[in-house]
Amino acid sequence: MDENAESANPVTAAAVQREAIIQSAIGSAERAEELGLGRDRILLSTKVSDVQHLIAVYQDLAARCDYALHLGLTEAGMGTKGVVASAAALGILLQQGIGDTIRISLTPEPGGDRTTEVKVAQELLQTMGFRQFIPVVAACPGCGRTTSSTFQTLAKEIQDHLSASMPEWKERYPGVEAMSVAVMGCIVNGPGESKHANIGISLPGTGETPAAPVFVDGQKVATLRGADVADQFKKMVADYIEKNYSKAETVAAQ
Ligand code: SF4
Repeated sequence: MDENAESANPVTAAAVQREAIIQSAIGSAERAEELGLGRDRILLSTKVSDVQHLIAVYQDLAARCDYALHLGLTEAGMGTKGVVASAAALGILLQQGIGDTIRISLTPEPGGDRTTEVKVAQELLQTMGFRQFIPVVAACPGCGRTTSSTFQTLAKEIQDHLSASMPEWKERYPGVEAMSVAVMGCIVNGPGESKHANIGISLPGTGETPAAPVFVDGQKVATLRGADVADQFKKMVADYIEKNYSKAETVAAQ
């Protein structure tokens, strides 16, 4: 900082700090190698809590060394603030091909646990198309065309069911993590969106006939009615998984 202040062309304090972080990280790694640590056992991680600063540090690091890099926004914060800040920083770097391992660092709610960090990390990788961990449930945001929360409840029930089942399904249904499910709230956009999913349902919106068309791989296969539409659809999702992802079916298809 002193040298920078006295130079003819001083840079910002943030730039000085960034350079110090980078020199420290690379210098430490080089020293570790001199002492005998294998390059393939070195992973550089810098402790940065500002989104723009983190992006700049890692862009410079990636340009100036070829050590493996660990990404994480430290002290990202609680709840949505921490999730958004981490996703923004890591998403940009990952998209640029920077980063070998990641951690989402969230302050848990009082009494909460740390599994949210892992779920957010998985969802970040999955939503960017880099990895698949669990089937995706697409649900419409809801609007003036629907006054009930049925589609939200059903989407949550299915997502929770998929999440809870994945540890077992990973063994029984190889590839099921790539499946997509859609739960839409009205007839206007519902069928179109549902057709893009492996299996999708378009629930009736306000004033619409109480019927819910179901689409499987782009084709309408059923129209559900009655008070137990949610249970009927969950059964159809289970049948779809059994039919398309069970090991026996996969082997037979080969
Ligand atoms: S699917 Fe229907 S209810 Fe859902 S956001 Fe679109 S228009 Fe609104």
